[in-house]
Amino acid sequence: MSSLTERWSVAGMNNYGTPQAALVRGEGAVLTDENGKQYVDFLGGIAVNALGHAHPAVVAAVTQQVQQLGHVSNFYVAEPPVALAELLLALAGRAGRVVFTNSGAEANEAAFKISRLTGRTHVVATHGGFHGRTMGALALTGQPAKADPFRPLPGEVTHVDFGDLAALQNAVTDKTAMIILEPIQGENGVVVPPPGYLAGAREICTKTGTLLVLDEVQTGIGRTGHWFHHQSEGIEPDIITLAKGLGGGLPIGACVAFGRAAELFTPGSHGTTFGGNPISCAAGLAVIRTIAGEGLLDHVKRVGEQLRHGIEGLQHPLIKNVRGAGLLLGIVLDEPEAARIAAALKEAGFLVNAPQPDVIRLAPPLIVSTEQADALITALESVL
Ligand code: PMP
Repeated sequence: MSSLTERWSVAGMNNYGTPQAALVRGEGAVLTDENGKQYVDFLGGIAVNALGHAHPAVVAAVTQQVQQLGHVSNFYVAEPPVALAELLLALAGRAGRVVFTNSGAEANEAAFKISRLTGRTHVVATHGGFHGRTMGALALTGQPAKADPFRPLPGEVTHVDFGDLAALQNAVTDKTAMIILEPIQGENGVVVPPPGYLAGAREICTKTGTLLVLDEVQTGIGRTGHWFHHQSEGIEPDIITLAKGLGGGLPIGACVAFGRAAELFTPGSHGTTFGGNPISCAAGLAVIRTIAGEGLLDHVKRVGEQLRHGIEGLQHPLIKNVRGAGLLLGIVLDEPEAARIAAALKEAGFLVNAPQPDVIRLAPPLIVSTEQADALITALESVL
């Protein structure tokens, strides 16, 4: 029988380029390919597999839910989406409303639509920001190579430099519907804004009556050692968007709106068939309950610091610095060698990726062990 990669090329699934591995099994933070080679997963499906692969809590919750009640129309209600919405609001510590979607892009589309109901149309987003590949989310995305072939894109979007408060201040007026930002830019190479940036954005929005939308698709659900990364700055956005880690591997997104923003969608404003389906929501409940029950937020902070110090401690001339928070880390290189090092790490049995030519991203499952972190540091040293 031909290999999975050969069958892939015949089936023409070419939108992501040639696959780097053909995987057949995952357990914890370890993946196995079709030749039996094992890898420690330091990418986690890009910040998706919060509990790693085949976590017993997710397996049990999804199995039980499929057996009890699968998809039902949004005309009806079931326990898992209600419980998950309640839990997300409890984690945020504020009253609000939750719209479930199937992806991060769709969660941002929902936020974009909510912003239009303010009666304003202008939007401010950031250069380098990534919000998804659907047309609206792409309009918000500040990466020309991804967006330019598809212009004209919806909306009146001004992009400003990320981390530059004065630029934000100049771009936002009392006609601006929303500012949309990632608390840490993931796809742009784990770019961390200066301290006070989110608080400054909050202040600008409050002054101008603009909604502050934080795209926590990559940073949310414990990734940085907080339920939502903005909580580390103690600010209150009007909307947060979530996806990735929320489903622990099942497709789900959420647009969570607070205060005035929560009142803008009314019945009929928005919808999607599978949004809030009981199976994905059961997975989301298992993910959040396990993170809470096993104290994983503290674990994330500890292992994140271990990785950061360990990698910086290598004092290798090619490594400029390590940036990020918790288990979302970017190893910044002096040369555009990230893809080459990621390939060498793969050979050594560790999966990472290179979101930028000079940045290696680590976004392992939150359950990654201190031993696995040490092994990655050792492997990186020998690869370098
Ligand atoms: N926002 C951010 C910050 C992301 O990192 C991503 C995915 N990389 C998205 C939105 C889009 O999510 P999805 O791929 O689920 O549409």
